[in-house]
Amino acid sequence: MIKKIIDRLLGKPAAAPKAKFGKRRVISEKEHRIDHELVDERALNVVRTLQERGFEAYIVGGAVRDLLVGLKPKDFDVATDATPEEVKACFRRAFIIGRRFRIVHVVHGRGRDHEVIEVSTFRAHLDSQDAEQVSGNERTSKKALSNMTHAVDASGRVLRDNVWGPQDEDAARRDFTVNAMYYDPHTGDVIDYHHGFEDAKKRVIRMIGDPAARYREDPVRIIRAVRFSAKLSKLGFTLEPRTAKPLKSMLKLLADVPQSRLFDEMLKLLQTGHSLASIQQLKVLGLAKGIYPLLDVVVERADTPFVSAALQDTDRRVGEGKPVAPSFLLACVLWADVREGWQARTGEMPIYPALQEAIEDVFNSRIGDVSGRGKLAGDMREIWTMQPRFEKRTGSAPFGLVDQARFRAGFDFLCLRAEVGELDIELADWWEEFQHADDEARLSLIQAVRPAPRAVRADGSEPRKRTRRRRKPAAGAAGDKPAA
Ligand code: ATP
Ligand code: MG
Repeated sequence: MIKKIIDRLLGKPAAAPKAKFGKRRVISEKEHRIDHELVDERALNVVRTLQERGFEAYIVGGAVRDLLVGLKPKDFDVATDATPEEVKACFRRAFIIGRRFRIVHVVHGRGRDHEVIEVSTFRAHLDSQDAEQVSGNERTSKKALSNMTHAVDASGRVLRDNVWGPQDEDAARRDFTVNAMYYDPHTGDVIDYHHGFEDAKKRVIRMIGDPAARYREDPVRIIRAVRFSAKLSKLGFTLEPRTAKPLKSMLKLLADVPQSRLFDEMLKLLQTGHSLASIQQLKVLGLAKGIYPLLDVVVERADTPFVSAALQDTDRRVGEGKPVAPSFLLACVLWADVREGWQARTGEMPIYPALQEAIEDVFNSRIGDVSGRGKLAGDMREIWTMQPRFEKRTGSAPFGLVDQARFRAGFDFLCLRAEVGELDIELADWWEEFQHADDEARLSLIQAVRPAPRAVRADGSEPRKRTRRRRKPAAGAAGDKPAA
């Protein structure tokens, strides 16, 4: 470490690059023109702290890509030559996480406003020949993997990637050239080994190395290719043909990826502000089916009025910097099934038990694989079971409902139903007024309701339709609280 500090003070250049991992190119501030205003203060602080302790540290990955094309990065990642333990020792609130890929979360702030900067240690080039081989996969070989730092399975999939190395090797194992640049906010330089800077200018998303081999190493890169092509499509980016070509035939490799990772990647496709573009890309690339069962359903239903309205609302909210809840979107996507099951039982049993049973059915048939996510499932259930309660506008019932923790999400769901003509719009307008009124006005609203509140439309009868002015955007169409 002392040597590093002395080298730094003397301004000694980094070791000569090994061309094998790409030729190091330094792009000065004058050339790249990154807007400093877009760089997060806390990321700067993490880089500065590490550099002051004598380590190399850079903003890396997607943040550099976004800065170069003038987008505000949604999060900041930092890469360093400090080991996770050394990073942890530099910060008061830092946590080492991950097994396949150990990194450090440096946490700033608390509660809903907290911010996590992910700090990863430069990884060494992974040579499948040298890595330890495991006979099973990530799911079946947990025990064998527990003490390994570099491990691959028989197909070349990387199961452990925790051997530290120099920056050029780290760059080579990143996914796309535009994701593999390092920005030193102190000197202003961007370091690029794979022509990422040119590709960003040319609006090309290109896999580093042989695309098929890179998808085999980590099949989740298939989904990442879709995500970046969707996210960057509005800037004119397209997937380089060589990068796009193997996508479809590699799809089956996703079968062995842990469900939780696939679920998280699905949410990134749908909840980072470009869900419609992602669905479009999935179709264009021939990946509309086969990534993840729930995602198949989303793509299938994306053009139905209800799901399409939910996706549009989600994109709009993210664009406005508002939180979105996966429970809300998934509740929308699976509502058609719940409704169908509910309708089928109406007449045979009372409204509430009928709905409960329908929900159970949907959980069993559609989302068994996320049932471990207690909060997510609980919130979906709550949104659905709240729906018939909106119809009951007598006595103290509305007062109880409006005080529910998830009222806002349930109400937004009701509004979407009204918007697509599933319910009388009058009901949504009434609740809009009720929730903002004082107690006295609330009582008058209850008294003003016609004697027979309209029945739940689970029986499919035609409700009164009216074109409704869109609620003001401030309303939390995707639920006000982010969920699990
Ligand atoms: P976003 O803007 O959505 O955060 P990102 O490019 O920053 O996109 P992250 O998932 O935050 O994506 O990852 C940060 C960086 O880590 C990437 O830019 C890439 O360099 C590297 N990376 C992440 N996942 C992989 C992967 N599966 N294979 C190779 N490199 C990866
Ligand atoms: Mg990122």
